[in-house]
Amino acid sequence: MSTKSDILVTLSLDEIPKKWYNIAADLKGLQPPLHPGTKEPVTAEDLAPVFTKSMIKQEMSTERYIDIPDEVRENYIRLNRPSSLQRAVYLEKYLKTPAKIYFKREDLSPVGSHKGNSALAQAYYCMKDGIHTITTETGAGQWGTALALASSIFDLDCTVFMVRISYDQKPFRRTIMQTYGAKVYASPSLHTEYGKKVLKEVPDSPGSLGMAISEAIEVAVGDPNIKYTLGSVSNGVMLHQTVIGLETIEQMKKAEIEPDYMVGCVGGGSNFSGFAFPMMREKMLGKTECEFIAAEPKAAASLSEGEYRYDFGDTACMTPLFKMYTLGHDFVPSPIHAGGLRYHGMSPLLSEAFNQGLLTARSYDQTATFEAGMIFAKAEGIIPAPESSHAIRAAIDLALEAKEKDEEKTIVFCLSGHGLLDLAGYERHISGNLVSSSRMS
Ligand SMILES: *Cc1c(COP(=O)(O)O)cnc(C)c1O
Repeated sequence: MSTKSDILVTLSLDEIPKKWYNIAADLKGLQPPLHPGTKEPVTAEDLAPVFTKSMIKQEMSTERYIDIPDEVRENYIRLNRPSSLQRAVYLEKYLKTPAKIYFKREDLSPVGSHKGNSALAQAYYCMKDGIHTITTETGAGQWGTALALASSIFDLDCTVFMVRISYDQKPFRRTIMQTYGAKVYASPSLHTEYGKKVLKEVPDSPGSLGMAISEAIEVAVGDPNIKYTLGSVSNGVMLHQTVIGLETIEQMKKAEIEPDYMVGCVGGGSNFSGFAFPMMREKMLGKTECEFIAAEPKAAASLSEGEYRYDFGDTACMTPLFKMYTLGHDFVPSPIHAGGLRYHGMSPLLSEAFNQGLLTARSYDQTATFEAGMIFAKAEGIIPAPESSHAIRAAIDLALEAKEKDEEKTIVFCLSGHGLLDLAGYERHISGNLVSSSRMS
């Protein structure tokens, strides 16, 4: 039994971590990304036209702890860091489970998700390296939103290529990015040669992440003072997100919480890795028995159903080849509402951890995840992002398994974001029109 208050575990501002944790220092057997032409490991020079110097250095680093720059730490406060760790007391009551359930609140950031943790760092490094403009792609809009705010904080111009279909379907996402000062183009656009070429062939193309990446990279390669940024998958993004897990460890110590399970949803792997990697190190050191569980959508179950091999990170085959769990770069996931989980691959760092058995994966149909999201919203008053509802589904299932066996398990999950801009999905669920993942093409 915990003797300290564990309902809402907070940290003071000076307890924001001072270093990120780099799991590349502790994972043996990592395979480097390969140049698609030569099939040799990519070099810093290969990446220089696309990414800023500091990010390339972090991408390749095997140093265990990396300093968080003061300007980034100070601005983490604006993203609601340190974020609280909360106990889901009402969810426990609703489930009548002996399990204790806690969640880490990445939903309280003004950008609505954990993505600001890396956006802030990447915008800072671009500013430091003398870059004036950053470009990126966005699908559902969470990453574009985070980067738009981070760019405004560090006084950079931000150009976002938003997949055309999302641009049309989610006009308010676009408005948020524009409010933070970003230029947003519907991709394919007339702003790039690649976009013009696509539009000439298919004037009403709905776009795709692959196309949007190609446009964002083209703009970066065309000017040495413009760089491209990634919202997930890369080693640097996993590193920045460990601020989540490092805070969580401090909070669990403070409230004497000893987790049996740590759970998160996985798209490209960044919120789960950030949340779990610091504790995985404790596990590697034999200091905890905690099990790590990644919750993925049935529509893009890269860990559960993918193969561990080299593949492209994008659809247009422009990126290096990454050793990762992949469904194939030409795999097109069904249009589930959890847009942030519709990715064919997985972070190479998380892939190797999975390969070594450091975590297990469970996959869910979207109808089951919306059900879990509704239960959580009614019990706790928080409407979760459809992505985060995958983690909630897994946490609820674990709590029900504990009830079955009458075991007092402790479950901690990462609430990666809120769903206040994804109400169309909730509307479909409530009106009975939400389609099962297996019935979508
Ligand atoms: C983008 C996103 C995800 C998935 O991305 P990861 O890199 O796997 O974390 C999950 N939840 C939310 C709220 C997101 O915006």
